[in-house]
Amino acid sequence: MPAARKETSTAAVRPEWRDARRIVVKIGSALLVERSTGRLRSAWLESIADDVKALAAEGREIILVSSGAIALGRHVLKLPKGALALEQSQAAAAVGQISLSSAYQEVFKARGLTAAQVLLTLGDTEERRRYLNARRTMATLLGCGAIPVVNENDTVATTEIRYGDNDRLSARVASMMSADCLVLLSDIDGLYTAPPAKDPNARRLDVVHEITHEILSMAGDAGTELSKGGMVTKLEAARIAMGSGTDMVITEGAALNPLRRLAEGAPCTWFIAPSDPVAARKRWIAGNLESRGTIFVDAGAEKALGQGKSLLPAGVVRVDGAFDRGDAVTIRALDGRDLGRGLIAYPHDEAAAIIGKRSSEIATILGHAGRAELIHRDDMALSKVLAKPGS
Ligand code: GLU
Repeated sequence: MPAARKETSTAAVRPEWRDARRIVVKIGSALLVERSTGRLRSAWLESIADDVKALAAEGREIILVSSGAIALGRHVLKLPKGALALEQSQAAAAVGQISLSSAYQEVFKARGLTAAQVLLTLGDTEERRRYLNARRTMATLLGCGAIPVVNENDTVATTEIRYGDNDRLSARVASMMSADCLVLLSDIDGLYTAPPAKDPNARRLDVVHEITHEILSMAGDAGTELSKGGMVTKLEAARIAMGSGTDMVITEGAALNPLRRLAEGAPCTWFIAPSDPVAARKRWIAGNLESRGTIFVDAGAEKALGQGKSLLPAGVVRVDGAFDRGDAVTIRALDGRDLGRGLIAYPHDEAAAIIGKRSSEIATILGHAGRAELIHRDDMALSKVLAKPGS
């Protein structure tokens, strides 16, 4: 449709979009559900399904993170307008999630695609073991060509263990799946220098490279009654995404075919992740995971770490803590200095059995083959206090 293309093709397609192979798309409630009636915006849903089909045909993997369960369910249960109590939202979600999933199933089926419902709670992306499990399931779905449609498992999540908004959930999912790009389809077309409703001079930013205090101060609250996330949570999502090497884009989603429009240069704000994904991963390890144990290493291992090598069992003197395979642990020198953090490749009991031994002995000791490294260097973020070799 050349006419439509003309209308929106104001900017060149960014390489971050052109080259993105795995894309997470967050769909807010306000786009999917009519506020006054609680009805699904079917034409819009059809149009995004068309967009997803087109992207899948280009060989891209798409994961949707869709809100809408509460917005759909509250009308069915005839709950009052305005803010709901937690248990009311949970009840509404229990009803609405069924319609939400079946709506996706229907529109994708009509296009020869398979929708898969994935309901997550906070622990599924925070706890390493559940995280690995959720990641494997989603990767398997993508491998089978299915389209995961993710939402928070609102019905069981309590206040302390909720994401609470799908902006952050989608960023966690993007990070967990090492997505190249996260698209937040929103009711606003990007980040403005000030909330545009309040400040007529507000200007939309095209690109953000870092979430600075200045950027944070631009976020007013763009939240609506239906969607929990305002600009503050979107910037939080950007921080999570960029911190794990995923670019993020905020664009206005209410018009039909929002992904096609984005590809054609619709107004938006890009949040560009630092270009080195290993560095980003290390930052994520350093800052986002709770340490589950401590690994005490000898001077030889400390020196090897300083030279950029992995941590082998031979250089470890003691392991403390009830950690499991994949958990974050603190690496410490015998004099107590923190040397860094890493994701350990063995659970505590196995680690305790192989420390001080050569990697070639691992299989004999454990009775099964395992990684030669206790912590691989790509899974490790060293502190600045790491003594220079020989010092
Ligand atoms: N999980 C909620 C729902 O499906 C939405 C949370 C949000 O709007 O961010 O209704």
